[in-house]
Amino acid sequence: MSERYQCQVCGVVDQDIRHVSVECMYAVDEVAPHARYVKVDAVDRDSPLGLFRIQCCKDCRADFLKMFGEWAAPKEFKSEPAEGILVRQLGTTVVMTAEEYREYRKQRGR
Ligand SMILES: [Zn+2]
Repeated sequence: MSERYQCQVCGVVDQDIRHVSVECMYAVDEVAPHARYVKVDAVDRDSPLGLFRIQCCKDCRADFLKMFGEWAAPKEFKSEPAEGILVRQLGTTVVMTAEEYREYRKQRGR
């Protein structure tokens, strides 16, 4: 079988291959380099930016669905003002302590 049937996440080759697509106005390939950009007809879509698609096996799709369910589960909203260092990360702003910020910079090589 060819690459056409290979999971881009775990590498297994299976004719019963699936696809997971994400459209969130963010360059998903920054965090998942094997995600392939797919241009979508802007006339038919709400987002003119297209989407990112990953070809995967059923097991990896199940891992994604589990992660998606955990992410989409209701969470408590923190209404207290944030204190700390504001850092832009993955398209959003996160608050770090001075120690977390030092570690973050160290990991990024700065
Ligand atoms: Zn897989």
